[in-house]
Amino acid sequence: MKVCLTCKIEKDSSHFYRDRTRADGLVAHCKPCRVEKSRRYYLENAEAERAKSAKYRAENLESYTSRDTARTAAHNAAERCPAWSDKDVIREVYAEAFALKCISGISYHVDHILPIRGELVSGLHVYSNLQILTPYENKSKNNKYTP
Ligand SMILES: [Zn+2]
Repeated sequence: MKVCLTCKIEKDSSHFYRDRTRADGLVAHCKPCRVEKSRRYYLENAEAERAKSAKYRAENLESYTSRDTARTAAHNAAERCPAWSDKDVIREVYAEAFALKCISGISYHVDHILPIRGELVSGLHVYSNLQILTPYENKSKNNKYTP
């Protein structure tokens, strides 16, 4: 028999986990108390984890903003998409870029040869103005148009 340090109840040795480093070979707290303790520990940490991710979101608002930027870009593309543009063909281009990504592991971008929001000229969201680029090519292009 052993008295648990937490609940102060005397219990049979079978209610305690073994601990060879202790004189009596048993841990100081009974099994139910240990379960309760780890449950509390888990709950407290879950709370801390939630607080941490909330903090992360607050500190990384920028990345949320860039998602908005992407949405704006998509909206602009839609604006520049004339009625005569063949949306099925355009979808094919995006599907091809996606397929390329699946095969190569490189995330290909569907690029507007003439930028939708170019400084001098604005391209249209049509098949003839689309090309598939690697992220590197897309970056090096940097929305510049050289006629
Ligand atoms: Zn106990």
